Amino acid sequence: MNTHSISRRKFAHLLGIGAAAAIVRPRITIATEAPTVPAKAKAGTVRLSANENPYGPSAQAHDAMKNAHGVCNRYPDEANDVLIDKIAKINNINRDQIALGDGSSEILKLCAETFTGPTEGKLVVADPTFEAILEYSKACGADVVKVPLTSSYGHDLEKMGATAQKGLIYICNPNNPTASVTPKNDLRAFIAKTSPETMILVDEAYFHYADSPDYESVIPLVKDHPNLIVARTFSKIYGMAGLRCGYCVAQPETIKRMHGFQMWDSVNIMALAAASASLDDEAQVTNGRKMNSEARRYTLSELDKLGLKSIPSQANFIMFDCKKPVVPLIKAMKDKNVAVGRLFPAYPNHMRLTIGKQSEMESFVSAFKQVMAA
Ligand code: PLP
Repeated sequence: MNTHSISRRKFAHLLGIGAAAAIVRPRITIATEAPTVPAKAKAGTVRLSANENPYGPSAQAHDAMKNAHGVCNRYPDEANDVLIDKIAKINNINRDQIALGDGSSEILKLCAETFTGPTEGKLVVADPTFEAILEYSKACGADVVKVPLTSSYGHDLEKMGATAQKGLIYICNPNNPTASVTPKNDLRAFIAKTSPETMILVDEAYFHYADSPDYESVIPLVKDHPNLIVARTFSKIYGMAGLRCGYCVAQPETIKRMHGFQMWDSVNIMALAAASASLDDEAQVTNGRKMNSEARRYTLSELDKLGLKSIPSQANFIMFDCKKPVVPLIKAMKDKNVAVGRLFPAYPNHMRLTIGKQSEMESFVSAFKQVMAA
């Protein structure tokens, strides 16, 4: 770590536009043909199962990755610094308030390891919610308590707060799998009144898709709350799920504690280069939001024609009531080459569906109509 001599500024320059002449070009050509289909995915499968961004990273991110080929032999310290500087500037915070992760999954895992377990305390989560952190906490020997969402699909903050004692409360906002938000005033009041001994992790993976007046990021609250951690990812609006990069914002003491559990240099140089470039490309966010809301509107109107209602969505996926058990439907859709979300046992009749491109949603609608009519 930190033994090589490229300065942060030089590295930023190397990754920037016009860097081609400044670096030694690798003797490979960048593939222009269609990407290889992962072994596990059946060719031609419409993949609406993992809340991925169907459009991929921005052109600027692709350029930055090409430019980074020449520094792949170096450890990524400088690229880390460049990205941390950008995140700090955008959020008006200090560098020591940020930890990068190998996807926000690593941030979730670090939170489980640092703040839950036999001595730290239990994990309190909503039901249903994104399940990864439950597994990480269980592996640390922690008890996990699930608190059902409210009837309006928000986190039941009162019950979660009453259940927690030290340990960690995980709040996914917007929530996966319901795509619903927990109202901003409720969340603010909850953060203000929770004992500083209990850590609160707010997962804002889908932040960029949320436009409800009832929603806000809680990053600005970190400065006043030493027990607050906010996680973000480059996997969703920035289309980098396969590259793996995420981060969290918290107070410096919290970041220091989490670093103790973290592998050195866990984020690779390609992901760092792409993430830094993505933050410079505002159109990636505005276009991504627009295309998502158009394809989502189309899908919702088709479901409406079938008499099926969705939970109001603030994300790049929807969850709707199929009025019958979803498991056979998931299987039948798979047989028609359309992969949809898995079962979430709290809602056995609900299907979670990622919003893909318009053409993919048309394929979904066509297959789904056949499956429902069968
Ligand atoms: N948090 C939520 C709510 C998610 O839905 C996901 C992935 O779908 C993640 C975190 C993990 O994202 P990543 O590790 O790709 O950053």
